[in-house]
Parts: sequence; C-alpha cells; structure tokens
Amino acid sequence: MAVGIVREYDALVVGAGPAGACAARRLALDGARVLMAERKPRVGMPVQCAEYVPMFITYYVPLEAGHIAQRVDEMETFLPTGEVVRNRFPGYVLHRSLFDKSLVASALKAGAELLLGARVTGLSDRGVVIESRGPGGRERFEVAAKVVIGADGPISTVGKAVGRENTEFVAGAQCEVLLDRPLEATRVYFDPEYFGGYGWVFPKGDTANVGVGVQLTGVPGPGNSLLEAREVLEGFLDKLKVGRGRVLGYTGGLIPVGGPLAATSGRVLLAGDAAGHTHPLTGAGILHAVIGGEAAGRAAARAIRDDDMEALQAYDDEWRSIFGRSLERAAERRALLLSNWCCDRAALSQLIRRTWIAFRSPADRPLMDVPRRSPQWGREAWR
Ligand SMILES: Cc1cc2nc3c(=O)[nH]c(=O)nc-3n(C[C@H](O)[C@H](O)[C@H](O)COP(=O)(O)OP(=O)(O)OC[C@H]3O[C@@H](n4cnc5c(N)ncnc54)[C@H](O)[C@@H]3O)c2cc1C
Repeated sequence: MAVGIVREYDALVVGAGPAGACAARRLALDGARVLMAERKPRVGMPVQCAEYVPMFITYYVPLEAGHIAQRVDEMETFLPTGEVVRNRFPGYVLHRSLFDKSLVASALKAGAELLLGARVTGLSDRGVVIESRGPGGRERFEVAAKVVIGADGPISTVGKAVGRENTEFVAGAQCEVLLDRPLEATRVYFDPEYFGGYGWVFPKGDTANVGVGVQLTGVPGPGNSLLEAREVLEGFLDKLKVGRGRVLGYTGGLIPVGGPLAATSGRVLLAGDAAGHTHPLTGAGILHAVIGGEAAGRAAARAIRDDDMEALQAYDDEWRSIFGRSLERAAERRALLLSNWCCDRAALSQLIRRTWIAFRSPADRPLMDVPRRSPQWGREAWR
C-alpha cells in the first residue's frame, strides 16, 4: 500500500516509556519539533515492572510524593544455602504508571506532541511508517523526521531496522500480592531453578511485587517464554507460602540482559531497553532509560539545530561516560554466572557471592555506581 507523508517533524521518538519521554522532553526544550509515537492506547499501562529505582535517580529526574509507593533502605539477599545477607540499597518502589505518565506530561508541557495507538512498523527514506487504528479504521502513513530515536523497548522495531538487536533476554513473571504485614527491605532470592535470574519481593506498603526472572535459552517466541517464567513464579509463591487468594494481578515481560548495543546508526539513535541499557545482573533499566533518553534528546537537538548529523555521536560519548562501564562490567559478571550456574546449592551460593551486586568489593564499584550528573546535564526545572 502506498503511503503519503502526513506531517514533517525535526525528530520522531518511537515509544513513550521513560526513555522516549525524556528524549522528547529534551528535544522540545531545546527547540526541536518532536512527535512521540506510542503503539499502546494509554501511557504507562499496563505496568510490566517491579518498580524499584535507586535513590540517586533523583539526581536525574524529580520524584513527586505521589510517585512513591514505599521508600526502602536495605536489600536482603537469600542465598541457595539459606543464608541471608542484608545490605544498604536505598531506593524507592514506585507507582510506575504514575511516574511514566508524569514524564510524558513533562514532554508535552515542553512542547512535544504524542500520538497514541500509533505503531511504527519500520523506517522509510524520510522518516518512519506508522500504522494506527482510528475511528475510520486502520491507517498507514509516513512521518518525515531528520532524526529518529528508537525508545521502543526490548524488542525494538527501530533497532531491528538498523541491525542493532538485543539477543539475550530474561523472562520476568510477576504478581502483586496482599501482604500480612509491611516489609521494610527489598528481598532477592537465588535458587538453582531460577537459571540466570532470581526471585524478588519488592514491598509497596500493604502489597508487594513478587516475581521471578529466568534466562531464556532460545529466541523469545510469542508468549511461550513468559509462560515458562509464570510456572516458575507459581513455585516461588508456594515457597513463600503466598496463597493464590492473596494475588491481586499478574504481569510480566522481557528484559534484555546482553549488555549495551552500539546505540547510534546514521540518523537513528536507540535509547533505554532498545539500546540494551538494562543492568545485565539486576535487570534494572528505569534509571538508564531516563539518563539515556535525555542524552539522546540533547545530541539530537544539537544535530538538528546545527544541521550536522555527526553531532549525534555525542550521545554515545555521554551515555558511555555515565553508565557504560557499569553495564559492561555487569555483562562480564553475567557471563561468569551463566557459564558456572549449577544445582549444587553451596557452589551456587559461592558463585552468587562472586557475581551479585550485594557482594561487591571496592574493585567492583563500577558494577552499580552511576556518577552524579555529567557536566553537560541539563538543569532546567521539570514542570
Ligand atoms: C518483569 C519486569 C520487572 C522489571 N523491574 C524493574 C525494576 O524493578 N527496576 C528497574 O529499573 N527496571 C525494571 N525493569 C526494566 C524496566 O521496566 C525497563 O528497563 C524500562 O521500562 C525501560 O524503559 P524504556 O523507555 O526503554 O522502554 P519501555 O518502558 O518498554 O517503553 C517502550 C515503549 O515503546 C512502545 N513501543 C514498542 N514498540 C513500538 C512501536 N513499534 N511503535 C510505537 N511504540 C512502540 C511500548 O508500547 C512502550 O510504551 C523490569 C522489567 C520487567 C519486564
């Protein structure tokens, strides 16, 4: 079907998650005409996340009281031998849907536009092709843009179009359960059965996100990988003695864990999960999506303003300088973890002690640390 150009923008951002919203906001603040295309009909829904962020995310983005379900100061790691180790890991368990919505609202207030129910199906010579369902039925049209930012999650259409795809995934299955009594710390459980992953209990006041992530051994297929993880989750609930009558809802999703991809290709930038910017050991990606999105938006705005696509390379320099080393080091640890994974509980506990973030030595500091703001970091107030 032939498609005509409907609109022209300076930049087109694919996906209205944290990476896309932060990229669009920065582009708009820096004077670019920017459109976000989001395939879902509603921003922030459904939530596919355990919702934990480290406290220093507030160096990069403000958190309103309403975004926070619970503050936590410590993490308890349950080893396969039964030992429990407690460490300081201050952070927040968010109301992720509200957080995502407020990031998108900030982008719109800065001047970005949002198209919902708009699935980008591929790149064209001048921009992207979008399919959407409107009152008049299915529509297919092209939007022209000088720069395209693929912030379209773990299985990225934009990444695929430029040959930069995530290839290693953890499948996460999760439910929200009603607690008997509030919990103070986040809890992480290792078990031979949770291959390459772990179980988690992240408290949210009266409830908690209870989930498991397991490494996929093959290419993710429609639904199959998540069903496998869901079976492991049922066993985890039994182990925790959570009755099915206490479950308020299920969710799940894929987490890229292969480490960062080269995120710049011609006039295309990838950000967040699309760029493999999730921590390969923990699976955490909200913080990296916020930082990477902002950095991608800044580089794109400069390239558009100066009509110089070489300026897009500044994006790679910036994200690498802030969290590149941390992700690469974690990817090395993950490779060690996978190649030595075993069913012997004592041996697996030793392996976890060598690899998991709770057992870092001073030499491991890059595993988790994200410096405060980079010198270029924008200081405009969030609205
Ligand atoms: C079970 C689970 C638990 C997790 N727990 C945590 C946690 O506790 N802490 C943490 O930091 N991270 C966690 N993560 C990871 C975190 O959710 C991601 O790293 C984060 O959402 C990345 O943001 P993003 O903007 O890159 O991608 P996303 O939030 O995935 O947003 C991408 C957006 O792009 C849209 N999109 C996709 N394709 C298209 C297309 N073709 N056209 C238009 N729109 C498109 C999607 O609908 C989506 O809205 C978890 C992930 C899972 C699956």
